[in-house]
Order: sequence, then C-alpha cells, then structure tokens
Amino acid sequence: MTCNCLTQVTRDVKRIENCGMYVDLIKTSRGVVRMGSMPDISKFLTLHGFREEIVVVPDWEGSMAGDNHTGEEFVLWQAQVKGGIRKHYVGKSVNLSQMYYNLNDTFSYFFDPKRISIMKKRWLDNWFKGHIAAPIYENGPLKIDFGKGNIVLSDHGKVLYDRLEFTPSQNPDSQIEKVLAKVPTDSKPRQALEIKAVGTGNGFVGTVASFIVRFYKQVIWIDPCGFPAHTLARHGVHWDDITHILITHNHEDHIQGFSACLKRAEYTKTPLNLITASSIYGQLKKQFTPFCPGFNALVNFIPLSPGTLLELDSIQINSRWNHHFLPYGTLGLRISANGKTLGFSGDTKLDATINGVLKREELLPQWFAHCDLIFHEVDFDNPASVHTHWKQVELLQQEISGKVLVYHTPFLANAPLPLVQEGKTYCLE
Ligand SMILES: [Zn+2]
Ligand SMILES: [Zn+2]
Repeated sequence: MTCNCLTQVTRDVKRIENCGMYVDLIKTSRGVVRMGSMPDISKFLTLHGFREEIVVVPDWEGSMAGDNHTGEEFVLWQAQVKGGIRKHYVGKSVNLSQMYYNLNDTFSYFFDPKRISIMKKRWLDNWFKGHIAAPIYENGPLKIDFGKGNIVLSDHGKVLYDRLEFTPSQNPDSQIEKVLAKVPTDSKPRQALEIKAVGTGNGFVGTVASFIVRFYKQVIWIDPCGFPAHTLARHGVHWDDITHILITHNHEDHIQGFSACLKRAEYTKTPLNLITASSIYGQLKKQFTPFCPGFNALVNFIPLSPGTLLELDSIQINSRWNHHFLPYGTLGLRISANGKTLGFSGDTKLDATINGVLKREELLPQWFAHCDLIFHEVDFDNPASVHTHWKQVELLQQEISGKVLVYHTPFLANAPLPLVQEGKTYCLE
C-alpha cells in the first residue's frame, strides 16, 4: 500500500485515493454510499474508519492503475471473518450480475469445519443485497440515477454527487507512464536464481503476497499485487521488466493486479505471458473477458500441469495441487535454475493430522526436501485456521535441510519463525 490519502471533495463527499485510483464516499440520509471499488479497498475503508451501507456498482472499467470491481471480494471476506453489515449493492442489471457471479465463483467456497474438503457456502447473500436500478434507485429521500451514462445521487431533492462532474481531468494512464518514466529498466541477465519479495501480507493486512523470480533473461511475477506500476517502482522494479506472470489461484489477494496487467498489455501491444493451470486460466478468462473483451488475443497462456515439469528456457518449474479451498485448484511450486531450487508453498493448509487423512504425498514436507530456500505461508494465531499454523511450519523445518521463511501474514516483530522480508532480494548462488 502506497501513496494513500483521504481528501474532502465537498461537504458530503470524501475521496480515498491510492496510486492513480480513487473511490468516493458520500454521506446521505440513508447512510454512507460508496462509489465503486479498487484493489485493497477494504484495508483503506478500515484505515479511514468508514462503514458504508450502500455500494454503487458502476460499469466495470479500469486503467493501468487497476479496475473498479476488484477489491469487493475482500470487503466480503472482512465481513465474513471479522463481522460486518449486509450492504445494499446498487447498479444496472449487467454490472450487478457480473460482480455477483464473479464473487460467487470465489467467495462462496471454503473448507468444511475439519478442513478436509471444499464446500460451497451460501453466505454471499448474507452480505450482498442487490438492487437493480432501471435506471433509478430510490430509497426514501435518496435517489441514484444511472441514466445518460452518468451516476447522479440526490438526497431530499438536492444533488450531492455527479460522477462525470467529479471525475478528475487527468488520464490515469498518463499518471502511470509518469511513474514508469522514473524507474530504470533492468535487462541484465541473472546468473543466479533471484527472488524479490514485493509483498508478504495478505488480503487483510499489508501488501498482498507477491514475488518476482528472476533467472537469466526471465522475470516471473508470481501473483501480481494491486497498483503494479507504483508497487514495483517502490522496490526499484520497472513493470515492463516482467516477462511472465504466474498465478497460483483465483482468490482476489493473488490476482489484485491482473486487470492492470491486462490494460498494460493492451497499451503496450505486448501479449501477457501467463503461466498457470488450465482450470485457473479458465476461471480468469471467464471472469475477466467482460472487463477486457480482447482477453484471448492479449494473453499468451502457458499451461502448468501439476506433476509435470515446465521448462522455460533455463528455468524449471515443478508444481503440485495444494490443499486450499477453491475448486479450480491452487498451485504450490518448486522453481529451479542453475542447480538451485526455491520452494514456494502458495496458499495451502499444511497439517500433519489432515495429511494423515488426505494421504497425498505431494503435500508432505518431503516435497520440499531438495529445495535450498522455502517460502511458506503461515498463520501465527489460530491452529484451526484455513492457513498453515506456525507449529506445522516448525515441523516442516525440522524435516528438511533448506531454510524455511514464512509469508502471507502481518509483520510480527517477535515472530517464532523467520519471516520473508518485504523488499528484500534473495539470491541463490
Ligand atoms: Zn487463497
Ligand atoms: Zn491468499
């Protein structure tokens, strides 16, 4: 998360801005109305102390900064995990259904209470109450008009918000170009496997888990985080240095920056090389084609089949199916180059008791036996969490010789296990 700020636009309108995107919040007699979304919006709402009752779902649009539907999944996870209120989602029929069904494809899956199998949950409707505006939504004195390509909100007959009028004149894409112009590109071939930790947090805290793996001329970005130009620039990386994107699974905290990457591919007329499993790719294509109709032509899909080696010039990628809770699967990785190997857990519930039931060899600590360095996801608090409790990572470390570092967690100064350090570049020589 960078360059976040809150500004007062009018007496009734506040604006959360972050790295070329913004979300407006309007105070009305029927509660706070939020205009659209953006990556990490749930973190920003918490940061600035908002609890909005109504969410306006605009046409699905975006720029190289990001899109205005991504972010909503973690608004729901936040409500589901930490408590919240059922919000009224208002918009044109097509926009509401795009958002609802995309959320239903990811947010509605979870583990059973014993964390053994994946279950479909009916909890989306506990938090999402859709209201179709055709083209006007009325709630007592509050009126939101979606006609004439605009969104105009009035309360007690007074216009409080006119979306077109409130749109800044600056093109967000030119802002991105300005950011990129300040970052040097780096095409120096790497002779050793290099891993940069761009983000080590999760959907609730910090910058989401996101890593760049480099060897020779390949630069693979695992799980692109939101606001790519700014976030990579913060770590001295030029966005266009990335040669491949690897997506481990479809949860929002792992695809936050995907829409921006599609827009960048469109802008630079350079296809996006996407490494992932067929089922994950299928879901991405289904989800993002309405946002980006040119999806097929823009994405060069490189299939990764768990259990089968993928060779990308001089990099070898091994993968497995993790124990996580999406039906499209979640990837764990072993990435090798020049005789060295990085193990990368991806989101997975490593647990000795559960593995005794599942009896899947690739989920055992030995899968990482020949890795020199292992990044493993962790939960420091709750042994029953859907993530790996730190005691289980401790057991993993006892069974293998490679160094294990943990991520997908808020920073913890007195962590009982060593953390992956955000911003640090790890070199396997
Ligand atoms: Zn996940
Ligand atoms: Zn995650």
